[in-house]
Amino acid sequence: MRTIYLDHSATTPVHPEVLKAMLPFYKGEYGNASSIYRLGRDARVAIDEAREKVARLLNSEVKEIYFTSGGTEGDNLAIKGVACALREKGNHIITSQIEHEAVLNTCHYLEKDGFDVTYLPVDQYGMVGLDDLEKAITGQTILISIMHANNEVGTIQPIAEIGALAHQRGVLLHTDAVQTVGKLPVDVEALNVDLLSLSGHKFYGPKGVGALYVREGTKFHPLAHGGHHERWKRAGTENVPGIAGLAKALEICQGELEEETEREQRLRDALQNGIREAIEGVRFNGHPTKRLPGSLSVCFERLEGEALILSLDLKGVMASTGSACSSGSLEASHVLKAMGVPIEIAHGSARFTLGRDNTQEDIDYVLDMLPEIVQRFRNMSPLHSPKGNS
Ligand SMILES: *Cc1c(COP(=O)(O)O)cnc(C)c1O
Repeated sequence: MRTIYLDHSATTPVHPEVLKAMLPFYKGEYGNASSIYRLGRDARVAIDEAREKVARLLNSEVKEIYFTSGGTEGDNLAIKGVACALREKGNHIITSQIEHEAVLNTCHYLEKDGFDVTYLPVDQYGMVGLDDLEKAITGQTILISIMHANNEVGTIQPIAEIGALAHQRGVLLHTDAVQTVGKLPVDVEALNVDLLSLSGHKFYGPKGVGALYVREGTKFHPLAHGGHHERWKRAGTENVPGIAGLAKALEICQGELEEETEREQRLRDALQNGIREAIEGVRFNGHPTKRLPGSLSVCFERLEGEALILSLDLKGVMASTGSACSSGSLEASHVLKAMGVPIEIAHGSARFTLGRDNTQEDIDYVLDMLPEIVQRFRNMSPLHSPKGNS
């Protein structure tokens, strides 16, 4: 059976060139980057080179890049790190209702620790309102954390404008750019951000490695205490293969960014149009244009998303109901809920996220079987009512 992987927002396969860049550090080049003999120095050089590459690709200074274990740690380090460092200045943090769990649960944790958090609402497209943001800023606000693009519906936030507003009011801006790095141009200067987290495995790098950009002069505390690694901000022996792989993956993705964006968008649009034409009672989620190129979130009315995903799996098609982190739970997506999607419709959500290896044949294959699967479930479902189009 074919395998058609349409869940690239959950993770991506490691690019063969990335694997090649990593292997030496699992074989002969196994030194600890803190050691002073040759193997150690070589590992240090590899990390330095990777840091330079990442900094250049993000338009930051080399010393503004800190390697982490991924997006979750980056989000934690940014938010807790700033909250802890600026505690004397204020105790208010602003974020949005549609953030990834790594941000939301970090904020929930800080609420128990005496911080006030405002969770901004979003509009029907999942967009944060600049007016709402401006009104939410108080004299106590120390940090705003708004994701660059949403992992479930793909909506891209106006980060540069949010940054301008934040800086006018003397507030720091963090963005979770895990879904955009490697897919969209990400330039920390153009985006007006003070902190930005990214994760290797979302752009064809390895799992368990990421980076946090922190603008020079921004005060933040480490989460892990130990050695001098990452300039005392992130203790622990560096993941040399992972770091080398992450830098290689970013280089590859940035190099092919424009053509790949255009290609994935074309395939995504073909999938969207095909679904719209063949199946009634569907709603597409996310912003119609300000959206990740390969991302399609759709709600099938009178259907359970999980049932659909499992049927697709039997045909070799891998997609998800929402984010990878929330599938497996029966709770409706917090993102769709915040966007005002009625709960019974949110239960019928499916997310298809395309990547480098997908082709038009993949899309045709999905479009070939999807209408029949949807129809079969609707016929079985007690929710079924032949009300027609919406
Ligand atoms: C995947 C993801 C994360 C978590 O990154 P990990 O490297 O898997 O910890 C955080 N934020 C967003 C938006 C993501 O999509």
